[in-house]
Amino acid sequence: MVVLDGKATSAQIRAELAEKVKGLKAEGKKVPHLAAILVGEDGASRTYVNAKVRDCEEVGFGSTLIKLPAETTEDELLKAINKLNNDEDIDGYIVQLPLPKHIDETKVLLAVDPKKDVDGFHPENVGKMTLNLPTYIPATPQGIVEILRRYNVPTEGKNCVVIGRSHIVGSPMSILLSQHNYPGNCTVTLCHSRTKDLKEVCQKADIIVAALGRPGFVTADMVKEGACVIDVGITRVDDPSKKSGFRLLGDVDYDAVAHKCSFITPVPGGVGPMTRAALMMNTMKVTELS
Ligand code: NAP
Repeated sequence: MVVLDGKATSAQIRAELAEKVKGLKAEGKKVPHLAAILVGEDGASRTYVNAKVRDCEEVGFGSTLIKLPAETTEDELLKAINKLNNDEDIDGYIVQLPLPKHIDETKVLLAVDPKKDVDGFHPENVGKMTLNLPTYIPATPQGIVEILRRYNVPTEGKNCVVIGRSHIVGSPMSILLSQHNYPGNCTVTLCHSRTKDLKEVCQKADIIVAALGRPGFVTADMVKEGACVIDVGITRVDDPSKKSGFRLLGDVDYDAVAHKCSFITPVPGGVGPMTRAALMMNTMKVTELS
């Protein structure tokens, strides 16, 4: 069994990007500048955004963090987005999700200039991804594809079960793994809360991508010997023994499942760091896609 080490792989990716940034600087070219908009005080969102800013600093990108109060109106947020769309110094930006309930997420995502949409959530970029055209790919599926590639995980002709059909993880994951390239060429089954006989469906899978947000959902009896298991889930549970006061649980019962697997991602240290690295890779792409 091989543990797909997202922490080490993402550090490697950041080191490679830092080299590329040095190259851009040496050629007198512009270094990518990533901005992030954070609305409100959600603890997890703040942690994620701060980590993204640190990643930018590490690879040498410019970074700007725009913090807006929780009571920011939809109009005010759309104005901030418009400003970023027109700011020539900002190459790409993200609007950290989730947004406060009074703001229409779809309206906001549609307002982002597709050329600066490094999260790859705008319909124009989703369309390009679906057609396998060069574009920004949502960071989590992109990070998963990248770790499969770097560990040479076989995917061609494999049965792949993706659990969860969200627009940011499950759905794009199912598209990418069914595409005509590597990693891809899988026969993909996309599962969700209405799927019948999920256990039996999973038992036939060579690759399982669990992205539903239910700790320990994938148990040993659902996994075939030699399967590759990718655990996307991150659920915070209280843990007074930790300095942070919480620990992170994945969607896979790791201890029971790992020994059956050919490859598995841990939580933490698997898909999470790869997601961050993929955002940095997307930000580097602004130089290639513009
Ligand atoms: P989401 O939008 O809540 O979607 C969850 C999906 O799981 C839905 O499609 C839902 O089905 C399905 N589902 C829920 N219960 C199910 C069940 N019992 N059986 C089968 N399917 C079920 O979640 P998300 O944003 O994709 O995130 C999923 C998990 O990944 C969360 O833990 C999140 O924190 C984590 N995540 C991690 C990263 C990372 O960097 N590692 C990034 C993003 C998200 P329906 O569509 O039928 O409701």
